[in-house]
Amino acid sequence: MHLKSLSLRGFKSFATPTTLALEPGIICVVGPNGSGKSNIVDALAWVMGEQGAKTLRGANMADVIFAGTPGRPALGRAEVRLSIDNSSGDLPIDYTEVTISRTLFRQGGSEYAINGTPVRLLDVQELLSDTGMGRSMHVIVGQGQLDQVLRADALERRAFIEEAAGVLKHRRRKERALRK
Ligand code: ATP
Ligand code: MG
Repeated sequence: MHLKSLSLRGFKSFATPTTLALEPGIICVVGPNGSGKSNIVDALAWVMGEQGAKTLRGANMADVIFAGTPGRPALGRAEVRLSIDNSSGDLPIDYTEVTISRTLFRQGGSEYAINGTPVRLLDVQELLSDTGMGRSMHVIVGQGQLDQVLRADALERRAFIEEAAGVLKHRRRKERALRK
């Protein structure tokens, strides 16, 4: 399984619709300070369901929408699409290519879709949860995150291990079932 492409439209500094082709192997993003390198990583986390505005380096979620520059008006929505090559079948879905998209509207409301079909956030999280790309992603290691692992207490460390082992998904399902 590998990430094939990432498309950004109105996400943070990407006011101009931009598609990045992601080849297998190591990808380096280079550019001057403030040119949007970290915004690309934020977009990756966001489309996979990230809910923490702080993780995305903003104060609230609407901060991911292009806020405008002196020469360019703000936009009303942010949209990110991630295409994943699933010919290996690692994702539990019957498609060799899977496209996840997330849209957030400035006026409120957001949408998720898998291969064009509207889904819930939960569906995106479950689709990705056995790949390590789920809810609290261990595939994106941000600054300071290693510190967090090293400083975790026993309970937090257990949550890391459960997420990595794929147990957390079942625990959450059980919690949801018991609540109903
Ligand atoms: P560095 O090398 O310093 O880490 P970088 O290439 O990682 O820089 P980013 O942090 O990705 O840079 O981009 C920061 C830029 O994105 C800033 O100029 C900021 O104004 C812009 N930006 C962030 N959010 C928005 C938004 N909602 N609307 C418009 N521009 C935004
Ligand atoms: Mg950066």
